[in-house]
Amino acid sequence: MKLVLATRNPHKAAELSRMLADLEIELVSACDFPDVPEVVEDGATLEANAILKAVALSEATGLPALADDTGLEVEALGGAPGVLSARFAGPDVTYEDNNRKLLDELRGIPRPARRAAFRCVVALAVPGTEVVTAEGRTEGTILEEPRGCQGFGYDPLFLPDGHGRTYAEMAQDEKNAVSHRGKAVRAARELVLRLLPQEQAVDPPRQAPNPPDEIPDPRR
Ligand code: IMP
Repeated sequence: MKLVLATRNPHKAAELSRMLADLEIELVSACDFPDVPEVVEDGATLEANAILKAVALSEATGLPALADDTGLEVEALGGAPGVLSARFAGPDVTYEDNNRKLLDELRGIPRPARRAAFRCVVALAVPGTEVVTAEGRTEGTILEEPRGCQGFGYDPLFLPDGHGRTYAEMAQDEKNAVSHRGKAVRAARELVLRLLPQEQAVDPPRQAPNPPDEIPDPRR
């Protein structure tokens, strides 16, 4: 069984793959289907965009597809940039442009008022079934200057609650353990296990072993 990770963002693909690596499912990404056109993320909500991406990839490939859409919601900015997080500083901008704009917007605002949350919605589209979604949210603070060089996007500015390091100062497993995406994917795993036939049962059936020549090929 194959599952398409509906993203061309290598950072996201790496985080998702690492969290799903133990499932008996072959993970491929949107990059493996270069002829499938880029999805226009024009949904009004994170959920709408995640569903758009998952359904587009699933319909184009005939395979189950998993997509995520993430937004940074900053309290002092009324929840912005939210669903527009990728384009906060304008169309075709870099992560640095967005981070600079965020720091400009928050200039002079003291630490306690720099509250924010990353919210992530994961959508799973399996041909022949309804699309299902799961969500993860992590609260924290936007720092006054970037710290760290791991990760991507707003990672260097986001200090998750209860941690002394920004996402960008964390190793990938550490970020996955506390992050919005980690929480959403851990919830989505249940959906993946329920909707996708596994090559191997997670818990082996309790029965006497078959004679060697009758052991079924788990990939059939
Ligand atoms: P997307 O629409 O889900 O690709 O995410 C929108 C924007 O949110 C991206 O362009 C990044 O700037 C930011 N973003 C998404 N996920 C993360 C994350 O895990 N850390 C930091 N920024 C992120």
